Amino acid sequence: MTKTKLSIRDVSKAYRRDGDVLPVLEAFSLDVPDLEFLVLLGPSGCGKSTLLRIVDGIEAADSGNIILDDKDVTGRTGDGRGMVFQSFELFPWRTTLDNVAFGLEVTGVSKTERYEIARECINLVDLSSFQNAYPHELSGGMQQRVGIARALAINPSILLMDEPYGALDVQTRDLLQDELLSIWERERKTVIFVTHSIEEAIYLADRIVVMSPRPGRIQMIQEVPFERPRREEMKTSPEFLELRREIWQTLKEGITV
Ligand code: ADP
Ligand code: MG
Repeated sequence: MTKTKLSIRDVSKAYRRDGDVLPVLEAFSLDVPDLEFLVLLGPSGCGKSTLLRIVDGIEAADSGNIILDDKDVTGRTGDGRGMVFQSFELFPWRTTLDNVAFGLEVTGVSKTERYEIARECINLVDLSSFQNAYPHELSGGMQQRVGIARALAINPSILLMDEPYGALDVQTRDLLQDELLSIWERERKTVIFVTHSIEEAIYLADRIVVMSPRPGRIQMIQEVPFERPRREEMKTSPEFLELRREIWQTLKEGITV
């Protein structure tokens, strides 16, 4: 049996504003096995980002626990968690190299070593010729690759990705999905990837957790039966389209417009 990498236990969270209480997550529990590529799929506003931020430790839950490698890490960051954000969140005044090296600055690694690791990670995402460029000189897709290199630089054992391709055009998104999968094949890590795209979820995931609208609960867990490496042609196969239809059916049941 594979060991459990991450355990989300009974996590609840509500936002309070002007006396109003907005329940976002209610008793959310999930176990993620080591090295799984897990996708959290759900309609916008269902609490995916909130959940991921709680898992990362940058946001506090009202109750519940986050257990990583059998250790309670609730409310703390670090411990091998690497986060990639939808809006890239790069420092505009730093070059690619310095953005990627940033995460290592707090770890006490020497400057020479920081740059060495950063260059390797920049190489992984194919941006070697842009290491001295500033974010504004890069396309959205390239900026997101910098974001991914930055997350990889700390050599995380679990990668948390919050709609990393949500802001990109479809073509760039398809290319980056393939790039991510090939990095993942080489540098196996546990991944939690958040998206609202059913197609993206099926293409990437070992397992898809479908969330209901707010307050986010698990509506369905779907194993993805397709072999790896995944290929672009898969997306038009009858099996792929059938699975997409089934998941859409489930999602639709939860959504009221
Ligand atoms: P998702 O990522 O699935 O789109 P979020 O986790 O970002 O959903 O947000 C879930 C709900 O919580 C939304 O209704 C959102 O408006 C609300 N929300 C998120 N962050 C805050 C916050 N800091 N303060 C108040 N409400 C928030
Ligand atoms: Mg979100």
